[in-house]
Amino acid sequence: MKQVRRLSPHMVRVSVTGEGLRRMTSPCPDAYVKLFFPLPGQDRPRLPELHDDSWYRTYLAMPDEIRPPMRTYTVRAHRGTEMDIDFVLHGDGGPASRWAHGARPGDTIAILGTGGLHIPPEDSEWQLLIGDESALPAIGAILERLSPGAVAHAFIEVDGPAEEQRFSTLGNVRTYWVHRGDAPHGESVLNAVRLARFPDGTPYAWISGEAGMVKYARRHLVNDRGFAKNAVTFTGYWRLGATQDQMV
Ligand SMILES: Cc1cc2nc3c(=O)[nH]c(=O)nc-3n(C[C@H](O)[C@H](O)[C@H](O)COP(=O)(O)OP(=O)(O)OC[C@H]3O[C@@H](n4cnc5c(N)ncnc54)[C@H](O)[C@@H]3O)c2cc1C
Repeated sequence: MKQVRRLSPHMVRVSVTGEGLRRMTSPCPDAYVKLFFPLPGQDRPRLPELHDDSWYRTYLAMPDEIRPPMRTYTVRAHRGTEMDIDFVLHGDGGPASRWAHGARPGDTIAILGTGGLHIPPEDSEWQLLIGDESALPAIGAILERLSPGAVAHAFIEVDGPAEEQRFSTLGNVRTYWVHRGDAPHGESVLNAVRLARFPDGTPYAWISGEAGMVKYARRHLVNDRGFAKNAVTFTGYWRLGATQDQMV
């Protein structure tokens, strides 16, 4: 790993380097990877054989004492042999957040490339992006890759003003920053979306973040706003009270 930069009080950008990254392709702007972290006392994670399709079974079969924690993260940016990954420091003691909190140049993690989900149908005329801070890296990457004039409205829930970010985009973008304050996760952004006036035209929606928020946001768009089911991409990025292992 090459560089660690604090973007805001609860977000850290880790820039990793490695020859293997050159071969990775990012199919969609919200491309994600699987990250493997070292266990306490290790300087690098011990890996299963990753080239085989059955790698996940091999991974699960590894003894607990050596199986590296694996978590999913968005490729915020990719430049040849270098990749930026933005970690939310959520303070709930998960291995990924904990690793990012203490990360230093020279630390080693392993990366496995997988996929992406942001694929607007060809007939969509504008995009609605809804997420919390875990979706901020993907929303940033999506906005930065919009074609000139493409209309997008983004509703993003963060702790407070210090967590807001700026994106450069050629799109015609409206970003609504929703501050959580003391409200439960997801409640404020759901309220903002419920009250929002949307542009005319055929929409495409992309929703990611805490799983409960994602479920209710999708339900609202489909049931109350008439969004076509196949024009809504939704992914629970994490779940309150559950580790990512428990979500599988
Ligand atoms: C496709 C995809 C892309 C993702 N991209 C990103 C990304 O770019 N950046 C990013 O930060 N996350 C991203 N996530 C979410 C991230 O994988 C989860 O937040 C993951 O649980 C973090 O692992 P952990 O080891 O820190 O915590 P875990 O061990 O998984 O969980 C420990 C505890 O922390 C809580 N927790 C987990 N995440 C959060 C959070 N964000 N806020 C508050 N509490 C939390 C859990 O409910 C649990 O109680 C993505 C997820 C997916 C599926």
